[in-house]
Amino acid sequence: MTREIIIERKKDIIWKGWKFKGHEGDDMFGLFDVTFIERTPFTHNVDHYKFSYNNLDEAPKTIPIMSRVLLRTPEGQKRFFTPIFNEDEGYIHLAIKNYDRTVSGELAQLEPGAEGIMISKPTQHIKHEVPLKSFKLVYLIGAGVGIAPLLGYMTSCLKEVDSQTKIKLIYANHSLKDIVLKQELNELKEKYPDSMLDPD
Ligand SMILES: Cc1cc2nc3c(=O)[nH]c(=O)nc-3n(C[C@H](O)[C@H](O)[C@H](O)COP(=O)(O)OP(=O)(O)OC[C@H]3O[C@@H](n4cnc5c(N)ncnc54)[C@H](O)[C@@H]3O)c2cc1C
Repeated sequence: MTREIIIERKKDIIWKGWKFKGHEGDDMFGLFDVTFIERTPFTHNVDHYKFSYNNLDEAPKTIPIMSRVLLRTPEGQKRFFTPIFNEDEGYIHLAIKNYDRTVSGELAQLEPGAEGIMISKPTQHIKHEVPLKSFKLVYLIGAGVGIAPLLGYMTSCLKEVDSQTKIKLIYANHSLKDIVLKQELNELKEKYPDSMLDPD
């Protein structure tokens, strides 16, 4: 069966980025010093950023799925990012698109070893009322760098040994070269061929 899903972009609407205002955020999220380790390209405008927590005690032990971190740049600007699901203790990995604007532009200029950056612990901002594995079939719809929370969801859900959940991912990009986390997605498909279903 073929299903057609049309997602239209609203025209003439200026996208409003979520800027973090006020210093109360420092207390609310608890910002910790990190060091910028390296940046490797995922695509032509999205990079994989690796940061290490300067104090290992402040590093998160796990990355909850659908979580976000608050990042403060050396210039004092703050934005939210979605940590990439991993088990690399002491480090935090982010997929960051360079819009060549305030924070993404500043991060794109960082040299390895740069300090003065602060990152909070990951906090969950989408809570699940129902256990993930209780779903038989889950459709995930995302685009561009928005794949980061979806990959976390899939990895965590499929890792459950008794998981019967089947997943269909609809992932939109401008072109094939814009696919972020492609290798990780392919690895998941290879590891769980019965759970990651091919599109109809
Ligand atoms: C929960 C959450 C998770 C997120 N996770 C990620 C993530 O994992 N990776 C990631 O890359 N981003 C993520 N973001 C987005 C990120 O927080 C920033 O918004 C993004 O990096 C842009 O910040 P900036 O400072 O570079 O741009 P800004 O300087 O904030 O620029 C954006 C501003 O520019 C204006 N603007 C932008 N483009 C145009 C245009 N073409 N014409 C006119 N005005 C324009 C908008 O009005 C907007 O206010 C996330 C956001 C949230 C809320």
